[in-house]
Amino acid sequence: MTSHGDQTNIFDVIIVGYGGAGAAAAIEASDAGASVLIVEKFGEGGGTTKMAGGNIRSVGDANKMIAHLDALTDGTTDRGSIEAHVRGLVDLPIWIERCGGVIRTDPSEMLGAPRQPGPPYPGATPGTMFPGVVGADGIGLRYRWPKAQNKGLSRGKAAWTMLSDNIERRRVEVLTNTYVKRLMCDHLSGRITGIVAEQGGKEIRATARQGVVLASGGFAWNKDMLREWIGAAIPSAAPPHRNTGEGILMAQAVGASLWHMNGIVLSMGMLVPGFDATFALKVRERGFILVDRGAQRFCDESRLAGHSGGMLLEDRDHHDAIWRRIPSYVIFDEATRLAGPITTTDAGFNLDSGWSDDNSMPVESGWISTSSSLAGLASKLGLDAQSLVTTIDDYNRGIETDKDAFGRSRMDANPIENGPFYGIAVWPTVYNTQGGPRRSAKGEILDPWGVPIPGLFGAGELGSIFGSLYPGGMNYGEAFVSGRVAGATALGVEPK
Ligand SMILES: Cc1cc2nc3c(=O)[nH]c(=O)nc-3n(C[C@H](O)[C@H](O)[C@H](O)COP(=O)(O)OP(=O)(O)OC[C@H]3O[C@@H](n4cnc5c(N)ncnc54)[C@H](O)[C@@H]3O)c2cc1C
Repeated sequence: MTSHGDQTNIFDVIIVGYGGAGAAAAIEASDAGASVLIVEKFGEGGGTTKMAGGNIRSVGDANKMIAHLDALTDGTTDRGSIEAHVRGLVDLPIWIERCGGVIRTDPSEMLGAPRQPGPPYPGATPGTMFPGVVGADGIGLRYRWPKAQNKGLSRGKAAWTMLSDNIERRRVEVLTNTYVKRLMCDHLSGRITGIVAEQGGKEIRATARQGVVLASGGFAWNKDMLREWIGAAIPSAAPPHRNTGEGILMAQAVGASLWHMNGIVLSMGMLVPGFDATFALKVRERGFILVDRGAQRFCDESRLAGHSGGMLLEDRDHHDAIWRRIPSYVIFDEATRLAGPITTTDAGFNLDSGWSDDNSMPVESGWISTSSSLAGLASKLGLDAQSLVTTIDDYNRGIETDKDAFGRSRMDANPIENGPFYGIAVWPTVYNTQGGPRRSAKGEILDPWGVPIPGLFGAGELGSIFGSLYPGGMNYGEAFVSGRVAGATALGVEPK
């Protein structure tokens, strides 16, 4: 690539963003014979895809699954796009095997079985997050990436190694440390003809003969967009400063319609000094509660949901506009501290932080506050001491008599009696956003009248087909499926 538009800067397809969707689009386009350029703003690819759990929902019953996703998206996603997604999921294991990876359904998952009591909290949810919605039993078992068949790697790392190996093998050109800032557009025809990017302070341009695929992720790391579309600038567990929403702005600038801007995968996480991304919450023993800023409980903590638990924290006073549960606090006892890290150990940006299994490292670092008394803990957390003591007395009494105010069962609760006691603030945490340019079932980015913008395609969480009700385990599959579709459509072919 050169800094001036010459012959070397002309490709059939240009892909913006080297995460899962971008890599899948590049593999598909390259296999169809195209010359492909991937442009990535960071020094290496991977995006959220590499740090993620890598769980992919399989298709149990295609028609029921389509009905379920249709109901969850509530008419905001056309049926054709949902059908294309489900078809793509059916084909996905074969495509992954062709790429040298292996996914297998998790036999330990018991779909349809009642939840088994006990930690962790939140626990893995079998099937969809919305079992009461029509078609829920069409969602199949979760695919995982077995280490033994994926070069000793699992989850996002296994997936990413497979994808990046395929990109290297095909000798697809990848331009890293290059930030795409605009699309080039032929204003007479409205066709997208390439990209304008910045690399090391220099502007570069590249021309796309067939199309540009936007696969630059959502806006989990754009505080202004979060405020505008989600209502609060909440923190994220995704890789810091990668997915900052430029793809959305670029698409808007050439007339794209937007959809699903309020869709978000919202968990709970802890923010600690020196780390921009949150540590997602996972508690491994029963002796804990959550309290709000007034030291009051507000839920049955044993039923926290991994992908929507953060919704619980979105409670704003309608008079003084204060977020009463942002932050909230997890309060726990010594047995819970010793039972295992109170954060996830398998996905998220902070996996290598050194958070110890017995939580002693975050306690010694001052991330988790501790005191021999509840009143002492309250004062360290900035909570009202008497309120916290009363809340815990009430909780302990409720557990003992099996009459918890929020219905928490004794099977899922231990009294918080024996100190030292611990506490840390918990924030709603964005895993990923869903909003972005509206796209067709074939990955074409559409204008407000539903007409494809010539030469412009979208894939992955940038303009996901999912809206505000996210069933879980779908964005990963979507990155692969929609990437493949966009890469093929850009060349006027079907995915291979
Ligand atoms: C902790 C965590 C766990 C998760 N676990 C799961 C799971 O188990 N199952 C599931 O279904 N989903 C999961 N998700 C969500 C899922 O991983 C993502 O939605 C999916 O990987 C997104 O893929 P993508 O290719 O669209 O975006 P990404 O993989 O994020 O790639 C986007 C790339 O674009 C680059 N980029 C951005 N802007 C520009 C620009 N202007 N110019 C050039 N490059 C740019 C970024 O640097 C990035 O590399 C998880 C998310 C998180 C945070």
